[in-house]
Amino acid sequence: MDLETDILIIGGGSAGCMAAIVAKEQNPNVDVLIIEKGEIHRSGSIAMGMDALNIVVQPGKASSETYVESARIAAGGILDPKLSYVLAENSFSMLKRLEDWGVRFPRNDDGEYITLQVHAKGAFMVEMDAPDLKVILAQKVEEVGVRVINRVIITNLLVSKRRVTGAIGFNYRTGEFTVCSAKATILANGGCARFSLPNSGYLYGIFDYPGNAGDGYSMAFRAGAKLTGFECPQSSPLIKDFNCPLLYITLTRGAEVINAFGDKIVLEYLSTQTMLKELHEGRGPIFIKMNHLPEEKIQDIERILFTTERPTQKKFWEGRGIDFREGMIELGETEFQLCGGHGITGILVNEKAETSLKNLYAVGDVASVPMQHLSGAFVFGEIAGKNAATLVRKTQRQELDKSFIKAEEKRIFKMFDEKGEGTDITPTELEYKVRRMISDYVVPPKNERKLQEALWWIQRFRNDLKTIKAKDYHELSRLEEVRFILDCAELSTTASLERKESRWGWFHYRTDYPEQDDKNWLSRIILEKDGESGEIKVALQPVDNRGL
Ligand SMILES: Cc1cc2nc3c(=O)[nH]c(=O)nc-3n(C[C@H](O)[C@H](O)[C@H](O)COP(=O)(O)OP(=O)(O)OC[C@H]3O[C@@H](n4cnc5c(N)ncnc54)[C@H](O)[C@@H]3O)c2cc1C
Repeated sequence: MDLETDILIIGGGSAGCMAAIVAKEQNPNVDVLIIEKGEIHRSGSIAMGMDALNIVVQPGKASSETYVESARIAAGGILDPKLSYVLAENSFSMLKRLEDWGVRFPRNDDGEYITLQVHAKGAFMVEMDAPDLKVILAQKVEEVGVRVINRVIITNLLVSKRRVTGAIGFNYRTGEFTVCSAKATILANGGCARFSLPNSGYLYGIFDYPGNAGDGYSMAFRAGAKLTGFECPQSSPLIKDFNCPLLYITLTRGAEVINAFGDKIVLEYLSTQTMLKELHEGRGPIFIKMNHLPEEKIQDIERILFTTERPTQKKFWEGRGIDFREGMIELGETEFQLCGGHGITGILVNEKAETSLKNLYAVGDVASVPMQHLSGAFVFGEIAGKNAATLVRKTQRQELDKSFIKAEEKRIFKMFDEKGEGTDITPTELEYKVRRMISDYVVPPKNERKLQEALWWIQRFRNDLKTIKAKDYHELSRLEEVRFILDCAELSTTASLERKESRWGWFHYRTDYPEQDDKNWLSRIILEKDGESGEIKVALQPVDNRGL
């Protein structure tokens, strides 16, 4: 299928939908196309709904400067504070935009939005009651006339002289090869949720949306864009065996965390590091305790967990025979992921959501705006939508690189077994091995030797990838995802080897450099493809705190 559009948006999740709607709003004559790997009504981290906008600076109640201070603490000092400032400044108007679209933000008896504190400084989290948020976004996309193509996995960007000219991929149901030429491209395809293995052993039983396999990081790197924050993989204590979030929902409503000895864990603020430390130092299992809460609070928590978050959770607790009024919720450490929403990993962007490549924007979890959550996905989606709509007015369409397209088509379909038999090792088994290797060598505790082992294994798995065949197009998409995960593993390992200190508590704990060293390492590690060798080039960029 050969497609042409003005603005191509890769990924129809939170950030992609917002970018598309705003681009159309800005200029209804601009053609906007979302290519989505899943089905837009339910795809992405939201899937159903969300219970809060985690970052909202309400005029007169908090300041953007205080939020930047909080972000600086959360990011261990490694951030571009200008981006966090832009996020804060645009967060309240975003809440108002959502409210106009019918998203409900409950108010207290004084008519004020209900705020909760999860950051080190300031109560920025605003409660939202939106169990059908994703459907609202998808309907809005349709209403403004954005075209959507579902179930196509984009596998690579098209580039000419450091300018992105579109993207290619294929439909994983029909196998149809897809080429799209675009004047501007917005990457909005999430982080790398499928990084290390979850302790449940289920490949897709993970915290974040399992369709995000680091696709955006990998394709941006291969196209020549700069990336950062890969040495900070990130995990959280979540419901053990279910890997569903609940800390923000329960702890902000009075729940407590206790350890195996029944001791209450004192949390300075909602720091997951303190909880992970209990586990790593052998005082686990740790639990969320709620039996001291009044019935109305428990019902409020149940409502959010069993509707907005994941309705299957109700069944899960019934199956375990646990009622929050008596029993406790065991917390386990999740798999590690790479993410610009909960962590600091991502494509390097500026305040306009521009990447280091021409005509390419990056928004949401795929972009490095530390701990930006849903608020950041929406705010920078809005910014990218506006800027792309302006850019395409003065942009001519470029010729596509036909030889690259042909070579890519050949590379992808070479892994497809026409006979439909596949090989002895399946894509699922390969992914299991790759992610077990990541658990063994890439994530903390780290040291030089482990990280070098990882590099050896990554090359070996890349060779294995050449010998494995997919028995259908769905499996073929899985093989592409393994390629993305391997790229992410190499980016993470390379950055971790470079940062010869420990930072972010457990997330970059190097046993051979156990101390944090601000004197030498208050810098961002920037990764980029070397134009000649294709290897990863590493550079340090000191954190620039001027003006903030
Ligand atoms: C369980 C959970 C609860 C959360 N709760 C909150 C909360 O209460 N408040 C808050 O502020 N934040 C919350 N967050 C964070 C927030 O949801 C995310 O930061 C935000 O939704 C990310 O948006 P995104 O558009 O970057 O990614 P996503 O919404 O995940 O969208 C990425 C999209 O890209 C598509 N895609 C991926 N690869 C490709 C490809 N190769 N080709 C085509 N399409 C592709 C995917 O299918 C997906 O639809 C939560 C996150 C999770 C996981």
